[in-house]
This record gives sequence, structure tokens and C-alpha cells, in this order.
Amino acid sequence: MAVATSNMTHNLSQQALLAIYLPATRQRFKQEVNRLTSGAMAELLGPHADTPALTFFMSYLYAYHWLEHNVHLDYRARVLESFRGGRFGFLMDLLLSDTAEIFVQGYIHHWQTNPEGPVQRQELLHLLAAQHNDPQQLALYVLRRWHKFGLFTKPYLVEFKNVSRDERQRYDGMLGEADQARLELVDAIANTSPASANIWRYPKLGIIPAMGCPQTCRHCMFTWRPPKPKHEQPTLIYKLVDAHTDSVLFTGGDLTKQLPYFYDAIRQMRHIKNFAILLNGDFADTPQLTDEILQNMASAVKARPAGWAPARILLQISFDEFHQEVYVDKKGLLAERIPVAKIANIVAAYPRYAKQIQLALLHKQTSLNFSMDVLHKGVFARLTNELAQRGLQLQVLSAAPSARQKRNVLSGNTLAPVFKDASFILSQFPQAPILLTSSTIDGYGRGALLDECETIKEKDLLHEVLTQGPPPGESFDIDLMFWFNGWVTLFNAVHICLGDVYRDGIEMILARQRHDPLSHALQCFDRRLLEYYAEIHSDLEQKIKAATGPHHLFHSLTEDPLVRLHMTRRLIEVAGADRSPTATTA
Ligand code: SF4
Repeated sequence: MAVATSNMTHNLSQQALLAIYLPATRQRFKQEVNRLTSGAMAELLGPHADTPALTFFMSYLYAYHWLEHNVHLDYRARVLESFRGGRFGFLMDLLLSDTAEIFVQGYIHHWQTNPEGPVQRQELLHLLAAQHNDPQQLALYVLRRWHKFGLFTKPYLVEFKNVSRDERQRYDGMLGEADQARLELVDAIANTSPASANIWRYPKLGIIPAMGCPQTCRHCMFTWRPPKPKHEQPTLIYKLVDAHTDSVLFTGGDLTKQLPYFYDAIRQMRHIKNFAILLNGDFADTPQLTDEILQNMASAVKARPAGWAPARILLQISFDEFHQEVYVDKKGLLAERIPVAKIANIVAAYPRYAKQIQLALLHKQTSLNFSMDVLHKGVFARLTNELAQRGLQLQVLSAAPSARQKRNVLSGNTLAPVFKDASFILSQFPQAPILLTSSTIDGYGRGALLDECETIKEKDLLHEVLTQGPPPGESFDIDLMFWFNGWVTLFNAVHICLGDVYRDGIEMILARQRHDPLSHALQCFDRRLLEYYAEIHSDLEQKIKAATGPHHLFHSLTEDPLVRLHMTRRLIEVAGADRSPTATTA
């Protein structure tokens, strides 16, 4: 029944979806072509004598492959339609060629047979002359150069599978031989340190009931889902977490199926004041179902005994160009990944529960964030329209940029302020502000497969961290995440495990957290870790180049259990040498 109603309420027509899909895809296409023709292709080609003459040609060969890789065949012609005007209109026909060979031959033939032409014709004639004026030979040469890039060699689905496989292998090493050897080293330090009589307090702790999500967002950073735990003890986890913090975050993919655990936690964790939960909004099939779920959350808060800490829920809902992307499904039809109408259901229901719940929309930064366009275009505009159709008016109260300026690749790589936070209301409910906060997408998981221009990167921050150390307030988050399967990992590194809480006990886990030299080196982005990484692997430079920011770099440097062990050993050795009498007297 709910499904039938859901279909009625949030499925946009193919025509309405096409009106979203085409401009968004054209924008991506245009951004990629502009990026390539204005420097990126020349960089790929390298300092070769024919690089200037080849850049434009190869940029469009890239565009040919990009289209084949990213755009369903049924939609390619319509995506290209708006670029047909002007002297490069012929390229749009060529981009629809059946093979790259036909595209290349067609491009050569076009400039050979059009005596009047711009600089691209001169470039082509120059390239042709270098190949003895043999168009076949030039075509082979161009294709050979292209293949050397090794780009777009696997279909998206294969790349997705590879990302999940790599991630699964990473989890396979979790608490394996190398990790156990590392933890023994940490335990040896903990055992020789004076025990703390205080109960250790944390600004926040995380709970991961399970990692799971039926969605397949293109930017998803955690794609492999470990099997659901068999011997979970949620009540024990709640008790442990409740004793050490007053703020808890429930996370792990999407937790819609785990919501009963969240309600239980609110009813059981007497000291917690802030219950945050991260959901993708997919639960909000209908206004009725949405209301029911928010009511369940609010009821759990209201059911807490009077003497307990007053609690509130922070309901975090993903909302951005990626979660709400319009894509082509397996049947070749357009679909909205998580429909904006579902987010509208949540926004519309929320004011009734604002006493118990704070709603926050979590947004991933794109080039729109370089101006206030972010609040008037794209997914935000779609939400505003959807609410308006329901007679609800969205009103922005405040907006603020992030503390640091970031590079806008679309405007010459210049530094510019980035919109980060906003608060808004439905004007009919001014007492219920909704928060919107945006963050960057790091290059983990499928995030590494996004187009260069689709995300904002933290390369300047990375440079600062690597050359001067982190600026004040910037750190790697090492607060603890408790998994229902027993693992205890770090907020910013779910692959760094401090043990199994069911097996090792909370005291041992907390002692490890206090004494683990690797966790603490990560927290302050200790640059010695780069050196230690390079003692084991030879690809440090590539890792730095590929990193989208410091968190991503330090995450990727510690993904191999043997590296984690080596780094821990080295940090202990150096600390020992620093404490030795020779070191102090020298
Ligand atoms: S990004 Fe979030 S909603 Fe999308 S697939 Fe990943 S966990 Fe699911």
C-alpha cells in the first residue's frame, strides 16, 4: 500500500526528469571539455614536440570516450544537441560515431577537406605532415597515444566492482595478524603506563549498527558492506558509550533498517544529550510514513524518564547533487536516485517535531558552492519548487562561507570563498529552523571515479599540512566508533581498529586509544608517517598526487595493515630514542 502511494507521490515523469538530466549532464560534459582544452590534456600529453598541435584533437577524443563511459547511448545525441551551433558543430556528429577509430578518421578528414578553417586545421595539417601526409598513419598514431593514457578502459560497473573488491580486501586485514601484532605493541605501552583513575570522556562517540545501503551513489565513499554481525550485543554497546560521552552519532551507510536500534538507544542511554543519526532520506516514501518515523523518534525522546539528561535528536539527511542525481537506470529510463520529493516529505513533517528533533541537511560541495547559486539552482531549487507545489515556502535565514578559500577549477583554478552553512525555515513555521551544512567529497571508494570538476578538493590544505603542519583547528578525528560486530575504529579511519570490544573489553580498548602512537600521530597529521610509509612502499608521490585532501592522504597511507604495524613500530622506536639518556644529554 505504502509503495503504491509512494509511486503516486514522488515519481516524476520522464519528461520532468529529462529536464533535470540533460542540463546536468551537459554541464559535466562542458566542464570536462573546458578542463582538457585549457591545460589538462596538454599535461597528460607531456612535454612532447607535437603536444600543442595534438591538444584540441585529443581533448575531443577524450570527450568521445567520456560520453561513451558516462552517458547512456539513448541520451547522447540529446546531450550534444545544444552544442551543435558554430564551427565545431561537426564534432557533435563525430562524437556519436560507433567507434573511436571512426571518430579519429572523421576528424582528420574534416580538416583535410575544409580549406577554410581555424587554428585546429593548421594543427591537423602540421600533425599530418609529421606522418608523411598519410591520414591512416596519423589515425594510428593518435590512437596509440590515446591508449597510452589507459583511460576509460573498463566500464563503470566493472570499476564499481573493483572499488568494492579493494575495500573488502581492506576489511579482510582488519584485526588480522599484522593488526594483532600492532595492538600487542600498543598494549605493551599501556601496561607500563600508570592507569588512569578517571573515567575517560569523549566529545562524541559513534555507533555503527551495520554498514549497509541499497543505493549506488556515484560518490559513495564506503561501498563494501561487511556482513551483518551475528553475535551483536547492542545493549552492552549502549552502556559503554553512555558511560563515556554525552553525544552519540549513529552511522553506517543508511540506517533506515536499523531505526528500531536508534529508538532503543534513546530509551536506554540516560546520559546522552545529543543523539545524531545519518540517513539518506530514502525512508520518506510518503508524507504519512515520514510522519510516522519522525513521531517514533520524538516519542522515544519523550519517553525518557524525568531525571535523565534532557535529550534531542540531530536528524542528518543527505541532500545534494549526488544523492538526488537523475540517472539512467538498467532499463534505459531516467530515475531520481533518492527523490527530492522524499526530502520535501521530511522537511514538511519536521516542524511538528522540532522540540525533540533538529533537522540538518548534509550537502556535498560542487562548483555551485562558489556562489550563492547553490541556494537557487540545482537540487536546492528542486526542493524549493517541490515544497512550493505543496504550498510551503522556503526562506533562507543565514548563509556562511567555509573558513578557508578553495580552488575553483572552473574559473582558472583561482582561490575563492566557498558556501558552507545555511539555516532556513518554512515561512509557515518560523520556530523550526533547518540547518544545511556542506563538506567536500574525498577520493575514497567511488568518490575516486568522479570527474575532476565535479568536486571541490582540499589540495591547498593538503599542501599546508605537508609543508607547515595543520592549521589550528584542523585534525584527523580519532574519536571512537563502536560497531555492533565488536570492532572499535576511529571516526576518520574505519579501517584502523583498536580491537573487538566483546573480546578485549572496554578498558583495554580505551587504554589502547590513549596510548596508540599511530592514532595520535594521525590526529595531528604527523608528517613522519609519510617517511615511514615510504620505507615500505614506493608510491608515496602518487598517493600525494591522488589525495584530495589531508584526511584522504593519511587515510590512504594507513590502509595496509603491514604499514600500520611498521608505522607503530617506528613511532615507538623514535619515542624510545627520544627518552633514552643519550638523547637527553646530547
Ligand atoms: S552515499 Fe550514502 S546513500 Fe549513497 S550509496 Fe553511499 S551510503 Fe548509500
